[in-house]
Amino acid sequence: MAKKDYYEVLGVSKNATDAELKKAYRQLSKKYHPDINKEPDAEAKFKEISEAYEVLSDAQRRAAYDQYGHASTDPNFGAGGFGGGAGGFEGFGGAGGFGGFEDIFESFFGGGGRSNNPNAPRQGNNLQYNLNLKFEEAVFGTEKTVRYNREDACSTCDGSGAKKGTHAKTCTKCSGTGTINVQRQTPLGRVMSQQPCPDCHGTGKIIEDPCSDCHGTGRKKTAHSVKVTVPAGVEDGQQMRLSGQGEAGTNGGPHGDLYVVFHVEPSKTFEREGAEIFYELPINFAQAALGDEVSVPTVHGKVKLRIPAGTQTGTVFRLRGKGAPRLNGSSNGDQRVTVKVVTPKSLNEEQKQALRQFAKAGGDRVDEQEEGFFDKVKDAFNSSSKKKKK
Ligand SMILES: [Zn+2]
Ligand SMILES: [Zn+2]
Repeated sequence: MAKKDYYEVLGVSKNATDAELKKAYRQLSKKYHPDINKEPDAEAKFKEISEAYEVLSDAQRRAAYDQYGHASTDPNFGAGGFGGGAGGFEGFGGAGGFGGFEDIFESFFGGGGRSNNPNAPRQGNNLQYNLNLKFEEAVFGTEKTVRYNREDACSTCDGSGAKKGTHAKTCTKCSGTGTINVQRQTPLGRVMSQQPCPDCHGTGKIIEDPCSDCHGTGRKKTAHSVKVTVPAGVEDGQQMRLSGQGEAGTNGGPHGDLYVVFHVEPSKTFEREGAEIFYELPINFAQAALGDEVSVPTVHGKVKLRIPAGTQTGTVFRLRGKGAPRLNGSSNGDQRVTVKVVTPKSLNEEQKQALRQFAKAGGDRVDEQEEGFFDKVKDAFNSSSKKKKK
């Protein structure tokens, strides 16, 4: 199968700058990363993109590609052909070219640089933990212990992979570099390239007596727990980074990070948007017409609220400072109370009588009502609602 032109693969021009190449690569590799893109050809496409970028992002290899085309990327084509010398090809021919993942990971999480040296310290992978919170826990903050499995350095061998009391030896074939230089005669001349060392599989180390706990990998899945202090005022979907709580690094590199993502359970009583809390207050017809003092629940406890006479359904009252704390800790939001006048679905005899009297007395011409009439309506409703509650 004929290979596609690398510039075409990345959708850039032949004289694209390094920044343009990088931008194109990041966009495309995010789009086609097999973890994200589930299309059947995504992985092939991703490999193609990674390979194109690997070559074009390296000035020397790009120059070779510009001159010789795909022949220059043959693992057996290299230093000798255009006078670079073996040492000039760090990272050349990296075992199939599927090296893009860390790059993407970095662009997602902003991690540090990476190196092709197998002995260079590398940071471990980041992990994500979904933490469920009750509505009030998100409002007021809480402490949680989260338990999860992560890859840690094997404690038996301290991550060396070698049996206790023994040490991994530096690979003699590659002198610990993890790569070997291969020389071959081709029509283009004597060429030299680097390949992963077959003796140590690119690790630069030989373990003669592997640790039986981790089978020489130096790593083990371990149950781990960490205390999370959830700040007051977090919202559903927000996340918190716990530095160094991800998986163990390699070659003494630091642990990755743990991202704790908050999932907040909705409340049966309240709705919340940021620091604002919303509450719907059901009142009866008599309370709306005559006014009343009612007790309103807030996340800070019950609060008395005066309902003025003649309050309409949909009226909003603001209870200052009774909302959720703002994340920066400066103050609380407000609670907004929306009045909903509830028309009773069933009435007892006393209520019916009161309402009949109300209708007879002239409906809503409030000013002309006889003294004490509304109090009767109010009593009829209040006593019944009290009876219902108790
Ligand atoms: Zn071990
Ligand atoms: Zn080796």
